[in-house]
Amino acid sequence: MADRAAEFYDLLENKDIKCLLCPRACVIKPGKAGVCRVRENRDGELITRNYRVVTSYGMDPIEKKPLYHFYPGTEIFSLGTVGCNLHCQFCQNWTIAHGDPQSVDLSPEAAVEIMERESARRPCVGIAYTYSEPTVWYEYVLETAELARGKGFKNVLVTNGYIQEQPLRRLLPLIDAMNIDVKGFVEDFYRKWCKGGLAPVMKTVETAAGSCHVELTNLIIPGLNDSREEITALADWIKSVDPDTPLHLSRYFPNYQLDLPPTPVGTLEMAYDIARERLHYVYLGNVAGSGHSDTVCPSCEQSLIRRRGYQVSLVGLDGRRCSRCGQEIPIVGLEG
Ligand code: SF4
Repeated sequence: MADRAAEFYDLLENKDIKCLLCPRACVIKPGKAGVCRVRENRDGELITRNYRVVTSYGMDPIEKKPLYHFYPGTEIFSLGTVGCNLHCQFCQNWTIAHGDPQSVDLSPEAAVEIMERESARRPCVGIAYTYSEPTVWYEYVLETAELARGKGFKNVLVTNGYIQEQPLRRLLPLIDAMNIDVKGFVEDFYRKWCKGGLAPVMKTVETAAGSCHVELTNLIIPGLNDSREEITALADWIKSVDPDTPLHLSRYFPNYQLDLPPTPVGTLEMAYDIARERLHYVYLGNVAGSGHSDTVCPSCEQSLIRRRGYQVSLVGLDGRRCSRCGQEIPIVGLEG
């Protein structure tokens, strides 16, 4: 692993460190690392061990993040590292979040250079920090985002939103869009299945919504977070933040430490109906042929953006307006 001095911590007695990057606030003894495995107390100094550690990179459709209302149909250079500050038993990326994957050493300058080379071959909107948890890659993301922004590219975070307010506010001016994973809408769910908490994630969503484009993802797991009451409460809260916030309801498949059967499609349809009564843009993910991956005008129901896999066609838009009824559609990256 590549090392660099980290920020956001208090030095305690006996060279113990309290890390203040995420709400876990680990107290770390000298020679030990925090729960995320990537922030280490080295003789009273906090070190980020995954600085320059890149486990995967490459071009992805922006819809894969998923972002449906941010430069639709474009590609984004995607970078990921190791480590995570939550421990979700259903983790869909556990080999890099909690495993010991192969990696390459890539400086922020080198990452931006590769992205620029790729973008000369095909249109690329910028960089997505994704695959594992980018908030525990804080210093690398901050530096890379500054370089990318300086060259006119966008920065996207795909995150669990489990970060303290001070580091979040420092990072936000460099971030153009976020997809934040709201894993459930009950504190006990977060405590039991993710070893985290819901309230800080809600705070991150509310803070980010005032600063950049935000879309949300909710993985629906049968029997754990799929009750009508929980989905209603989630949708009501999102509506109170902004009813235009796109919500991606995603189908669970067994992974990592949880071996439940995949979420029934009927459950996802029920969740879609509840959310759609409250929110303007709701999508189903990981459900082939659901018909709920298109963007539809909330006013006249005309199809606006058609998605077939990662094939994206703008079919009912006149700039940022519905071509039939003139309703303004909140999509970043379209003219007008
Ligand atoms: S970022 Fe890592 S070390 Fe810091 S509080 Fe969170 S889990 Fe602990």
